[in-house]
Amino acid sequence: MSQFIDGRREESRSGRTDTVRDPSNGQVVAEITLAGAEDVDRAVHAARTAFPAWSRAAPAERSAVLTTFARLLEERAEEIAQLESRQAGKPIRLAREFDVPGTVDNVAFFAGAARHLEGQATAEYSPDHTSSIRREAVGVVGSISPWNYPLQMAAWKVLPAIAAGNTIVLKPSELTPLTSLLFAEIATQAGVPAGVVNVLTGTGVDCGSPLMRHGDVDMVSFTGSTAVGRTVLEAAATNAKRVHLELGGKAPFVVFDDADLSAAIHGAVAGSLINAGQDCTAATRAIVHRSRYAEFVEGVADLYAHVVLGPTADPATDLGPLISTTHRARVAGMVDRAREHARVVTGGRIPGGPLAAGSYYEPTLIADAAPTSEVVRDEIFGPVLCVLPFDTDDEAIALANDTPYGLAASAWTRDVYRALRATREIRAGCVWVNDHVPIVSEMPHGGMKQSGFGKDMSRYSFEEYTVVKHVMYDLTGEAAKGWHRTVFADPGTLKS
Ligand code: NAD
Repeated sequence: MSQFIDGRREESRSGRTDTVRDPSNGQVVAEITLAGAEDVDRAVHAARTAFPAWSRAAPAERSAVLTTFARLLEERAEEIAQLESRQAGKPIRLAREFDVPGTVDNVAFFAGAARHLEGQATAEYSPDHTSSIRREAVGVVGSISPWNYPLQMAAWKVLPAIAAGNTIVLKPSELTPLTSLLFAEIATQAGVPAGVVNVLTGTGVDCGSPLMRHGDVDMVSFTGSTAVGRTVLEAAATNAKRVHLELGGKAPFVVFDDADLSAAIHGAVAGSLINAGQDCTAATRAIVHRSRYAEFVEGVADLYAHVVLGPTADPATDLGPLISTTHRARVAGMVDRAREHARVVTGGRIPGGPLAAGSYYEPTLIADAAPTSEVVRDEIFGPVLCVLPFDTDDEAIALANDTPYGLAASAWTRDVYRALRATREIRAGCVWVNDHVPIVSEMPHGGMKQSGFGKDMSRYSFEEYTVVKHVMYDLTGEAAKGWHRTVFADPGTLKS
């Protein structure tokens, strides 16, 4: 059953169906039904009904069920990792060591954070009034997530929302809905009340769009491409919903001439190939000082040759397939067009043999591409790294910023002043120094520019999922208050 509404697995009422396939071999993982507008109505109604009690639950109560939720997830870690690996084509090592523990930690973090939602202490900003700040849940959140990290994205959307007292309807990608459904089911088993977390499996057009436009949804949070993010923004305008957008990226990876080159090469390989490059923060543009350029290209090509492509269930596999053959054709098309003006140093091929049944693509290194070319400017979302040379620090920073995106970046240097300058001047929501990719639940994730706005994870995400309310109390007890004179000069006939 592919819908989770009001605490139960159900089927869609649309009658439409689809198939979830393992991208590593094309085999069917599950048959699903696809939700439509009627299912959206039912799920939003369940979320609205659950909202008053959940939003008024004591923080300790919300925290307790989230603590149980983290424990139940941990107990079922292997089952969840297997399902995530199969539906998303992830190497099992990545699912076991990154996706599932990251999700458990995120749940555990928000179990604690739920008890630290604070308003500002009471104070007098006028002699006649006492003011206080209440931080309240926004209401019903409609959320849409992508296929690249289905489980973690479900956690990133659901946790800050419900920890702050909201209720949610999540629509995961129709390519990878299975772990989001399991996630919601386990949340309910942990004691999250029915209707607080609902999951709809459906397409963007038939389910995502009606959810974003729904008149009873107070806020939309979206993770996905910048193109779809724009349509979400338009849809949210229907009833002026609050919007939180986590969009695409094209992360620069800046290697200064004093960098530890071995560290930068290892970092570039891991940073570009994580999740087969289908990672919004993946290193995609290595901007390398000309004096180290040839050595860097050679080093990355050498390590790429040692990357193990293989079945996703094999713990020895480093690189799994792309999400689909359609997506692979898009990636391959961009690489093929780049051949006309740049040098494909290694990769750029579809592997044959036993991997031919899956949507695999070799790790691909492209050198000497023009900064204005498609492979350098557009999000590829595959295991492809472009390398560009620079001569001066100013040029490096300018190249790093020469993109419509601003999600993540890294600077590789042993010079603390260069590191400080890069972290200040690169316009991105996260800048790593001498590393690329690590994330922690305590720190925010989110973009600048066309990578969106708002933060996932950390206490900063509560800024998105709560509304600040000013409450002002009169201190005087007088009927005719001093300030009334400005509007109405009471002759003093009415006594209190
Ligand atoms: P996508 O934009 O194609 O789809 C994302 C989600 O939107 C899916 O659930 C899809 O069904 C839905 N959708 C599609 N059309 C819609 C419409 N018209 N109305 C409502 N919903 C619609 O993205 P994708 O291909 O699933 O994921 C890859 C993209 O996600 C990349 O651009 C990547 O950078 C981005 N991403 C960003 C972050 C981040 O934190 N910034 C994290 C992960 C992925």
